[in-house]
Amino acid sequence: MFTLISLPYAPDALEPVISARTLGFHHGKHLQTYVNNLNALLPGSPFEALCHSERSEESALAEIVRRANPAGGSDPNPAVFNNAGQILNHNLYFKQFKGSQDGNKPHGALAAQIDAQFGSFEAFMAEFVAKGAGLFGSGWVWLSSDAEGKLVITQEPGAGNPVTKGRVPLLTFDVWEHAYYLDYQNRRPDHLKALQAIIDWAEIERRYTKA
Ligand code: MN
Repeated sequence: MFTLISLPYAPDALEPVISARTLGFHHGKHLQTYVNNLNALLPGSPFEALCHSERSEESALAEIVRRANPAGGSDPNPAVFNNAGQILNHNLYFKQFKGSQDGNKPHGALAAQIDAQFGSFEAFMAEFVAKGAGLFGSGWVWLSSDAEGKLVITQEPGAGNPVTKGRVPLLTFDVWEHAYYLDYQNRRPDHLKALQAIIDWAEIERRYTKA
């Protein structure tokens, strides 16, 4: 059985960027539903043993997503892929935020790689926000790394995650309407711009160091 993650901050900690009301629905209703759906799909499936193993939930979810991927996985299963993908994506999404901070930016190797590939942190963030704003329909914009540390920004429709391409997911913005509609209605670009203020870059650097 997979479980709903606990948020590492208070429900109102991300205000005014993400309201406590949005967070309550997003984490307590939407993510809980994906967890319930996946747990109902696992018994008798080729993925059942993975949820009882000693490994971390994140690692088990990543393996399920890779194997259940309808486009090239070893055990293609769209329902399992969509629900496991949405749990993995949301766990990474919620854990990458903390309360609003002044001038929060990456440091160290990640900052150097961003500068080398995108010219500057500001240019990187502008491209990341633009790719999230420009994604048609529901999905996720991702920053991910390959084994050599090379970065790429990708748009993933639906429940997509760069683990299906063998990459390490680092940073993501959820552009499904449920992520922002209560607070921003149709103003997705404004929401994505505001999210920059609450990114916990120390957490993104930890993910990059593990890559
Ligand atoms: Mn979501």
